[in-house]
Amino acid sequence: MSAVTHVDADVAIVGSGFSGSLTALALLKRGRRVVLVERGRHPRFAIGESSTPLANLLIEEIADRYDLPQIRPFSKWGTWQRSRPDVACGLKRGFTFFFHQQGAPFEEDGERSRQLMVAASPNDEIADMHWYRPDVDRALAQEAEAAGAVHLDGTRLETLRHDGERTTLDGTRDGSAVRVTARFVIDASGPRGFLHRALGLPEAERRWLPATQGLYTHFEGVERWDRLRPAAGIPPYPIDDAAVHQVFPGGWIWMLRFNNGITSAGAALTDPIATAIDAAEGAPAWDRLLATLPSVADQFRSARATLPFIHSPRVSFRSARAAGSTWALLPSAAGVIDPLLSTGFPLTLLGLLRVVDILDTTSPGRQRDAALAAYERQTLAELDATEQLVAALYAAMADPPLFKRLALLYFAAASFSEAARRLGHADRAPGFLLCEHPAFGPELAACASIALSGVEGPARLALDARIDRAIEPFDTAGLLDRGRRGWYPVLASDILGSAAKLGATRADIVRLLQRTGFSLPEDQT
Ligand SMILES: Cc1cc2nc3c(=O)[nH]c(=O)nc-3n(C[C@H](O)[C@H](O)[C@H](O)COP(=O)(O)OP(=O)(O)OC[C@H]3O[C@@H](n4cnc5c(N)ncnc54)[C@H](O)[C@@H]3O)c2cc1C
Repeated sequence: MSAVTHVDADVAIVGSGFSGSLTALALLKRGRRVVLVERGRHPRFAIGESSTPLANLLIEEIADRYDLPQIRPFSKWGTWQRSRPDVACGLKRGFTFFFHQQGAPFEEDGERSRQLMVAASPNDEIADMHWYRPDVDRALAQEAEAAGAVHLDGTRLETLRHDGERTTLDGTRDGSAVRVTARFVIDASGPRGFLHRALGLPEAERRWLPATQGLYTHFEGVERWDRLRPAAGIPPYPIDDAAVHQVFPGGWIWMLRFNNGITSAGAALTDPIATAIDAAEGAPAWDRLLATLPSVADQFRSARATLPFIHSPRVSFRSARAAGSTWALLPSAAGVIDPLLSTGFPLTLLGLLRVVDILDTTSPGRQRDAALAAYERQTLAELDATEQLVAALYAAMADPPLFKRLALLYFAAASFSEAARRLGHADRAPGFLLCEHPAFGPELAACASIALSGVEGPARLALDARIDRAIEPFDTAGLLDRGRRGWYPVLASDILGSAAKLGATRADIVRLLQRTGFSLPEDQT
């Protein structure tokens, strides 16, 4: 073996996916020497593609707090298209759900009882995106390199040793030995990643979610749902310009369309469904799944997988630990719940801000240890809250009205949190899904717990009412307006009418809407 490459840094980040590179960019701006250690090479496939308004707002916050104007365009469809057309992505105007029964074509009634569409933005300009990760992660890694990060890609780390103030990581790169020394190690290597293994961290059991398997790939030629089944009426956004969820008892399929002709599609399946189709077989299993969902199968008649199928025998994962004195797992390394509701990006970006802030504002010692312990507690609590809600949704997959009602808990928390943060009051929206809010947090847990226990008759009606009561003080999006029959556009009037809930004045909200790119009717300004 040839000579050892030795890189000494303040912070070693393992994994140069989007979270590792963004962490590097922020730390470099705070004067830290950073090394990114990546086992693969960009561009490479990565799963986890669909962003949300909160995720995009967090990108803006990272860009502004750490003076990173080069990443700000990635927070909105319009700026992204103008500034970085070389980086593929998809237009995401909202969350679309259709509820199927296996073995039967999709059927809708006049009440839209088997669908749910929740808009995330009022127009394309300020819409969210699906990130085509081969391009996005490469672009961000290039930005980190340009800003001064040492990027050791193609590097296989073998050992971790901690002596006194420094951690030493040894591995190989292109047949040569590599040694990295750093004062702090951040794990951005995803679930079951580097630190989890190297430190022998225990795995926490799932508490509520059933065991699920994943089966997914990228396709060309996936037909739009709205071409095959045009909507009756004018939906809040074009049905397919969204994260499309095809839900059925025991699982669901996602479809995310990129602007390069590729569509990401895959399924998260409870074990009985995955076993029934023998999910580990890949492509034939996908065909067997589609054979049970004729209306979804119609979309794939002329489709072709552009990559081999990936089968994940266990989607969810949670480490029992997320930080120590000299190391931290970003939330995406500490756990993954399920693609449902696209929770991975915002959880990860919230954690990224917290970890960088701790390294920025504390020195090694008792204060930093306490901050890292608080980070660990919050990270695990947010993963718990997410797991409980997602588990309740799984329990309701055979019951669309209950699924829809429970999902509104998510949309209420997400839209309230986004508005509060945009108004400069992140303190009014504590914890992801408001899980640390003294009123909402316990109600979210209680409603999910009741749904998980299986309710019928009067208990079920009581649950519906309890969900409504939990949502009402945080509903800034007209979610309790039954007249909308499952279609929720983003309306300026809803948020203007919710100023008091946000502790804001009408004038504050008008300024907020103008700042964020809403076109307001004259009588509303
Ligand atoms: C099936 C599925 C679908 C999902 N869909 C969504 C979604 O739509 N929206 C959403 O918000 N979230 C989603 N998530 C969660 C999402 O995937 C993560 O939040 C996101 O990928 C985290 O990005 P990251 O950069 O932290 O990690 P990753 O994307 O996991 O990247 C980790 C990087 O670390 C590298 N690495 C791994 N091990 C090592 C090692 N030992 N040494 C060096 N490098 C290493 C890898 O090569 C990779 O480049 C989904 C998750 C799953 C499982």
